[in-house]
Amino acid sequence: MHVVVRLAPMDSIGQWMVGEGDDDAFWGPRPSSVADAACRWRNGDPSEIAPPDTLQSTSSPLVLGRAHSVTRSPRAASVSAMHAVGPVWRRGEPGYAGALGDPQFSALESGLGPDAVVRASDEAGVVEVLRAAADSGERVAVRSGGHSWAAAGVRDDGVLLDVGGLDHARIDAEGLQARFGPGLRGGRLAELLVAHGTAAPAGHCGTPGVGGYLLGGGLGLNWGDWLPACYSVTRVRAVLADGSIVEGSAEADPDLLWLARGAGPGFPGVVTEFDLALRPLPSCIRVSSWRYDLSSLDAVGEWLTRASDELPRNVELPVVLGHVPAADADPATSGSRRAVVGVTAIAYAHDDEGAASAVAPLAAAPAAASEEVHAVPVAFDALHEAVDATYPPGRRYLADTFWTPLDLAATLERLAPLIEAAPSDESYLLVSMPAHGAGATLLPEGVSAYSLHDRTLVIAYAIWRDPADDEANRQWIDAVADTMAPVCSGHFLSEADIRRHPERAERSFSPDAWARLGELRSHYDPEGRFHSWFT
Ligand SMILES: Cc1cc2nc3c(=O)[nH]c(=O)nc-3n(C[C@H](O)[C@H](O)[C@H](O)COP(=O)(O)OP(=O)(O)OC[C@H]3O[C@@H](n4cnc5c(N)ncnc54)[C@H](O)[C@@H]3O)c2cc1C
Repeated sequence: MHVVVRLAPMDSIGQWMVGEGDDDAFWGPRPSSVADAACRWRNGDPSEIAPPDTLQSTSSPLVLGRAHSVTRSPRAASVSAMHAVGPVWRRGEPGYAGALGDPQFSALESGLGPDAVVRASDEAGVVEVLRAAADSGERVAVRSGGHSWAAAGVRDDGVLLDVGGLDHARIDAEGLQARFGPGLRGGRLAELLVAHGTAAPAGHCGTPGVGGYLLGGGLGLNWGDWLPACYSVTRVRAVLADGSIVEGSAEADPDLLWLARGAGPGFPGVVTEFDLALRPLPSCIRVSSWRYDLSSLDAVGEWLTRASDELPRNVELPVVLGHVPAADADPATSGSRRAVVGVTAIAYAHDDEGAASAVAPLAAAPAAASEEVHAVPVAFDALHEAVDATYPPGRRYLADTFWTPLDLAATLERLAPLIEAAPSDESYLLVSMPAHGAGATLLPEGVSAYSLHDRTLVIAYAIWRDPADDEANRQWIDAVADTMAPVCSGHFLSEADIRRHPERAERSFSPDAWARLGELRSHYDPEGRFHSWFT
């Protein structure tokens, strides 16, 4: 038996904690250097990894631009009648429910369903589907990885166009650029980046598609320093409602690039490819975690607020209000769970000294931690594993988001009674201050639809199993919303509950950005072919 670093299996708040176990049986520290990573892949299947390559588009070679002329093949009048582009499932036919549900992440049914689900396997297929929809007048919803909490791709009419199969990827390590399709998953992107000695603000979770993640802004790894991932997007290739293929970049079409950086489910087209600017891989990533009972919340809040003034931006500091099993706690505790506050500090550095000095402002942690670990090495492409564990598959989910000018301490104090009242042990509240309080001034102006930040972001997750508990969990997430409403300055679109609260869409953008979104959406999609934010 060896002492290994593992995520305790019962841990529902996503912290790396120390335990004993056979290192085959538990999640050990992942390789933290490019060389380590290279060894790992050498021992695995190297053919899995795309070689460093020049960035050649794998999309269709059609002439770019809205006025291009392409010979149009004969086709049926409606998308639901066409099979040429890939599998099609019509409502009421065998396989329809499966095609609609896979890959939707949340098991909570929306109660809606399109006339047909179509899977396009390449860009030419996307073009054909959109032309058919234009001919027949059908509306179109788009899905890449199916991880929208609000199931934004599932609507009641028209066609659901699933582009999850467009998951090609190429990394140009020398040029620090990646090019990939929208169906690529965040965890796979992180693996490819590490294999090429590069990094980017890939998602905190491994399973969402990069399509919806990047279009929604992308709050990813080290985002306080590297900014939301949409600012690393340098080019998109997209198909518009008339089937034309366009490219958005600073040079080619800055308006389209602006939309692709944050319009989320309001993007007026289908993105078939992204280019992402990369960074050198931080070779020394160290994770520290502390866990406290809620009785220590004031001390924790004061500690973090004081430390935030000193912490550098290359330290990420998510704070979670959640539950752990009571067996893990003071035997005097009654009930099956206890509410805790978990603090995790991730330092993205290039050596141990840099990592240690980055988290030095956290040295004065309150003494009452029930568990703590320090400076655990975790590989860049393994960081998502602890977070993934907090979102078990097959559960019913509701999520919602709230920006607030309050600091961490005041926000935690406000939320504490809610976690104790949560009907499900798996539900939790994630609180973070991007750039340790400088969030409101973090965003470059005018280059993105993504345009609203404040000091602190709260993301609430209701997570449960039994449909009989739907109402209780809805009421809980509504109670979180009511508690935050008096101090809420806006929402983070990608995880906001826009299905039940469509007004959250407008409140996810600055007033200027919202006005420009309206104009650009009318320009690129004049007939309103694409569904948007439920507004
Ligand atoms: C387990 C989990 C963890 C998450 N973690 C994070 C996180 O760490 N950071 C973060 O920022 N967000 C996170 N999210 C939110 C997630 O990024 C968004 O919900 C995102 O939209 C998911 O992308 P997707 O492609 O999987 O979703 P989908 O449901 O496929 O897409 C959502 C919507 O985006 C639009 N869209 C998607 N692809 C395209 C395309 N190719 N062209 C045009 N429009 C498109 C469509 O309107 C679609 O309805 C998480 C969600 C889950 C379920």
